[in-house]
Amino acid sequence: MTFSLEIKKELSRIEEINDCCKKYELVGLMRAGMSLRKLNGRPRLLFITENASLSRHVFSRVKEIYKDSPDVFMLKTRRFRSHTVYQLEFTRLMEDAVHDILDDMGIILTEDGTGLKYKPVSIKKRCCRRAYLRGGFLATGSISDPDRSYHLEITFPDDFLAEEYIKYSKGFGIEPRKIMRKGHTVVYLKEGQEIVDFLNVIGAHVALMKLENIRIVKDMRNQVNRIVNCETANLEKTVNAALRQVDNIKYIAETKGLDSLPPTLREIARLRLENPDVSLSELGQMLNPALSKSGVNHRLKRIDDIARKLRT
Ligand SMILES: [Zn+2]
Repeated sequence: MTFSLEIKKELSRIEEINDCCKKYELVGLMRAGMSLRKLNGRPRLLFITENASLSRHVFSRVKEIYKDSPDVFMLKTRRFRSHTVYQLEFTRLMEDAVHDILDDMGIILTEDGTGLKYKPVSIKKRCCRRAYLRGGFLATGSISDPDRSYHLEITFPDDFLAEEYIKYSKGFGIEPRKIMRKGHTVVYLKEGQEIVDFLNVIGAHVALMKLENIRIVKDMRNQVNRIVNCETANLEKTVNAALRQVDNIKYIAETKGLDSLPPTLREIARLRLENPDVSLSELGQMLNPALSKSGVNHRLKRIDDIARKLRT
């Protein structure tokens, strides 16, 4: 099961939901998910999903609130692989006396019957705003597999709806961005922490824990990699420095001879030649009296300087 499907399953099963919120979850669901199709010249209002548990959820929520239910059609398609598409049709509900369901959702059929328009909805209570955001995600939201990347998006048929969704998200400190795609507006989040916050707002707590765990493991892996990379880089630097020192000392020995060096430098030069792979501190420990790492470094730098002058 994809992570999206997992979250939607969890969200459709939330049982502790206030009565006030039920309608607003439906508002979120319908505003994002309702579409208009023409059949024999007649407009059909459809909520289409491949998610069985979501179709059941919408069906029973409508029935609970409006004491009537949409007509359900199951279609088997074979476009990519064989799968089932659920169509919840609201056309009859709209034509019957109960058509204020659409009005409640702030959805208007245009005069010529070819499109949908949206009235602004004003949601007062914070709990209901969460429910509205959850509805939108349930309808057209998706999230990438967090093992790979962080991306969450919700698609809206109208830019006005996207703006409204962003506005209510901002009320919870979440700032999604939007982009146009194939005549729809896509509202999206790309940052792990924001996605975690969003899942918290819409009440997907199980999914949130799972995402957090993956983030922790990822973070640790990155940290370990950083440390290893850093240590490798340091080691490389140390080895390169030692090679350079040995090279310079040999050059001095072959040209002017090591005896040309002052006694302190001569001593460290011999030690370095004999121990090309020990650290500066270890070299310092071999001296009598012992010398600090920076003291050893200083002497080796002077040898480097002498060699450089000899070479030019
Ligand atoms: Zn509420």
